[in-house]
Amino acid sequence: MAPLSKFNLKPVEQLVLQGTSFCNIDCTYCDLSPESRRTKSQMPIDLALRLVSELIGEGLLGPELVVVWHSGEPLTLPPDYYAEAIEAITTLCQKHAPEVSVTFDFQTNATLIDDAWCDFFEKYASVVNLGVSCDGPEELHGAFRVDRKGRSTFDSTMQGMDALDRRGIKYNVIAVVTRRTLANPEAFLDFFFNRRRSLTDFHINVLASPIADGGDLQYGSTDRSTFCQFYRRMFAWWEAKRTAGEDFPIRNLSQALERLEMYGRPNAPCYVRETSAPLRSLNLDTAGNLTTFYAGLDIATEADRYGDGAGLSLGNIRCSSLADMLRSSKLAMMMDDFNSSHRWCAEKCEYFSVCPGGFELIQWRDKDNVGRDTPETVECVIHAKALTDAALDFIDSSDRS
Ligand code: SF4
Repeated sequence: MAPLSKFNLKPVEQLVLQGTSFCNIDCTYCDLSPESRRTKSQMPIDLALRLVSELIGEGLLGPELVVVWHSGEPLTLPPDYYAEAIEAITTLCQKHAPEVSVTFDFQTNATLIDDAWCDFFEKYASVVNLGVSCDGPEELHGAFRVDRKGRSTFDSTMQGMDALDRRGIKYNVIAVVTRRTLANPEAFLDFFFNRRRSLTDFHINVLASPIADGGDLQYGSTDRSTFCQFYRRMFAWWEAKRTAGEDFPIRNLSQALERLEMYGRPNAPCYVRETSAPLRSLNLDTAGNLTTFYAGLDIATEADRYGDGAGLSLGNIRCSSLADMLRSSKLAMMMDDFNSSHRWCAEKCEYFSVCPGGFELIQWRDKDNVGRDTPETVECVIHAKALTDAALDFIDSSDRS
């Protein structure tokens, strides 16, 4: 059997477990298929334990492992399920890999948070971090974060966040940005600023890809200056707060500045390669399929690319060992594809050194479907280039203190 070192694999830092693919709401822009969101599945805890045990056996855990429950609404399963899973995973690691520190993240829409969930989060506060998905004021959040009848979920999300606030349970927020957000970034940010005492971090996700005919969910390369202006206004708002002595974390902005600060340094990381390094992030779905390269990757993505109808799946932990999956020719083929993308970017794109990466699958889709002969995608322009331009303007701005 080929040694794993041949594949230059990194230790697993993040293990995304799809406890369930079911979601109690129906966001317009959700990446999961409508079928999986409606399926009341539940990952058997033994399945997660089998994977963790094989990771330990192969020596593939680093000093810290973050287990994330995501890809479906985790809180549609009861607290007891997670209590059992946390205890079992922690016990397994303490016994066979005591040097690994394990923590657990939940990414939730917050609509189901009640006293019982607050009891659970309090009990496991030393090992659990909570992330809430909220898109801001009602006119933004309620436009796309809707229930199965198309009604806004704003009130139920606020009810959940208020329940956490009353109990002093802190959380980070991820907010999706659509065209609607662009008109008034200050009001969008003020909404979260007003809840800053409860927040540990704040992160925006510009809608992953434009949705054709999606109205406010569409964007294109011609929107570069509009998005750049949005990011500029975010920087200006952020700086005004900082100067007034009110630091507010906005992860995207600080990371863009950090990447620019590292530019040209001999020890600068290659972000594009690191973002999709195999194994750093592993996803296990409820059926036992294992994917890597991106957090939350679905096996339906690029389903036919490798001829087995299983997309970028490494295999299924129910019927293959992790060792076999990691030494498979399919993983080698996938790594070749990612490496080709990275070489293409390095050769053609002047933003390569400061690009956060993560656009490879979109490049492949554009090459196959649109015949585009450049690594640049619409997402590159809107997510990476417009943000970098705004960050450079911020650094250059003469009126900064
Ligand atoms: S912006 Fe796009 S083309 Fe440029 S390095 Fe990043 S992924 Fe590659």
